[in-house]
Amino acid sequence: MTRYRDLHRRSIDNPEAFWREEARRIHWHTPFGTVLDRSKPPFARWFVGGRTNLCHNAVDRHLAERAQQNALIYVSTETGIERHYTYAELHGEINRMAAVMRSLGVKRGDVVLIYLPMIPEALFAMLACARLGAIHSVVFGGFAAPNLAARIEDAKPMLIVTADAGARGGKVVDYTPLVDEALARARHKTPHVLLIDRQLAPARLNAPYLVAYEPLREQFFDVHVPCEWLESNEPSYVLYTSGTTGKPKGVQRDVGGYAVALAVSMEYIFEGKAGDTMFTASDIGWVVGHSYIVYAPLIAGLTTVMYEGTPIRPDGGIWWRLVEQHKINLMFAAPTALRVLKKQDPALMKAADLSSLRTLFLAGEPLDEPTAAWITRALNKPVIDNYWQTESGWPMLAIPRGIEALPTKLGSPGVPSVGYSLTVRNELTGEPCAVGEKGVLTLDYPLPPGCMSTVWRDDKRFVDTYWSSVPNHQVYSTFDWGVQDEDGYVTILGRTDDVINVAGHRLGTREIEEALSSHAAVAEVAVVGVTDPVKGQVAMAFVVLRGAQGEGDPSERARLAAELAMTVDRNFGSIARPARVVMVSMLPKTRSGKLLRRAIAALAEGRDPGDLPTIEDPAALQLVRDALGDGGQN
Ligand code: ATP
Ligand code: MG
Repeated sequence: MTRYRDLHRRSIDNPEAFWREEARRIHWHTPFGTVLDRSKPPFARWFVGGRTNLCHNAVDRHLAERAQQNALIYVSTETGIERHYTYAELHGEINRMAAVMRSLGVKRGDVVLIYLPMIPEALFAMLACARLGAIHSVVFGGFAAPNLAARIEDAKPMLIVTADAGARGGKVVDYTPLVDEALARARHKTPHVLLIDRQLAPARLNAPYLVAYEPLREQFFDVHVPCEWLESNEPSYVLYTSGTTGKPKGVQRDVGGYAVALAVSMEYIFEGKAGDTMFTASDIGWVVGHSYIVYAPLIAGLTTVMYEGTPIRPDGGIWWRLVEQHKINLMFAAPTALRVLKKQDPALMKAADLSSLRTLFLAGEPLDEPTAAWITRALNKPVIDNYWQTESGWPMLAIPRGIEALPTKLGSPGVPSVGYSLTVRNELTGEPCAVGEKGVLTLDYPLPPGCMSTVWRDDKRFVDTYWSSVPNHQVYSTFDWGVQDEDGYVTILGRTDDVINVAGHRLGTREIEEALSSHAAVAEVAVVGVTDPVKGQVAMAFVVLRGAQGEGDPSERARLAAELAMTVDRNFGSIARPARVVMVSMLPKTRSGKLLRRAIAALAEGRDPGDLPTIEDPAALQLVRDALGDGGQN
């Protein structure tokens, strides 16, 4: 472990020297002076005075060497469209988009809200903003009008880029009525809406503010738009967190620090080399999409694969066929998708030639041990869990295989990445925990390059939210529980607001879930705390069974429920034993696949789960209600 240890230590002991060296990975139009400005903690400013541009680093810089290499491979199983763009072609499209935006008045420092499905134009629009020095705010295309309105209100864009429609699982979703409604709801008046017409839904071009993209693209076809050289700390984008635990926070990112951090991550964590092909199965509306569909692979000279569709349409082999067809070397997905694929016919994976694939990366939620064990065995390749947040922009915990091929440990996303001074702290005293002792995962000042610079237009919220929750120490709180072992590996034990208190014992819901998911009958599980007059709270488990097990047969389900409760008992003692195990066919999740435990807890207590704008499928709420209504231990 020496190479990793040395490098990590150096990045913490002398961040200035470490990052000065790493900053050479990107192009600086004007060199920076101070590496790190620590004058106003907890704010950190990286590479002060340096001028650079994300679009230049992602595209223009590669033209000399790889103009004819594919930069983007676009595949949509929703529309049947597949398109390839070389770096030269991508450069052309970004210039056109930038010229169109400029003609609508967009300039450096303006906000452009991007509300688009997974189409190439989404990537063009993000990079066109970067080129112009405009700040993009991508809103997941699938959010309803109220979510969109709230983000318009907060981001105050001068332009919205949208499309006629998105498509998901074969269903077309009209976007223009959603945009119309959002604009009507928001007090902020957005001057222009640029419409990409995919011809999936009737284009509503009669609305006065709509501007059609295609004719303008033609008009500006050969226009070259120079890159704006931004000071390293100017904002590149604002991205709202998933809103799993409450009101989404507008995470503001810089330019230079982000570029450097992504380049570092591509070598040390992802082992991606120029010429490789990377498929990140996320959405541009999430941070994983920003960093590993768009910016990082392009900055490092890779080919990025952008996919519109689900992992199981036309069938559960589609992702594996993409790997074969496009000789994908690196793949990045969320555990929730893997759990879906686990239920598919194994022959679908075996039928594809996966020899090009080197590593599968998974992030976004806990990777449960059965899923990790299954996919590692099925692929026979390294499966790298990595832990991070919208706030960090790149992995905080991973196996840094590009530094040293440390072993993976089942249940742990690995060790702190370079630059992250991570400490597990006691929630009551703020003191560091001993090895093996559970606490809150915190980061010491300064956050490394790439992490959020502040909350959009709200420095106070940045300090109050993130830097003020640990007693006696001004450290950044991740709001996640964790425990570190003697080798430095961290295991995530759930979110700090997912703790339940049973008769004075504090239990993490994640630990109980792990115990339950180790049972062969369990496909998915959520554990929540429910008020109890005697014990304060008790655990209640909501279980999705694998296949058809227990379906329709109440006595079989009751037997399973009792067996599952005993599984927890064996692992943690009776204190953690769920008071009730409820079988459901679906769990409420966010659009990004995260369990909405608070909503489940509300339902279990007979309360209204409230407004859940980011829910994937509202029908899941009714299914939980129905299952609860079944009575007894069903
Ligand atoms: P909000 O902060 O608005 O409630 P959110 O936290 O769900 O939303 P994200 O930034 O998308 O928004 O998610 C980051 C969180 O996801 C982490 O704080 C952690 O709880 C969870 N997470 C991410 N990766 C992992 C992982 N590999 N293992 C366990 N948990 C993970
Ligand atoms: Mg969060």
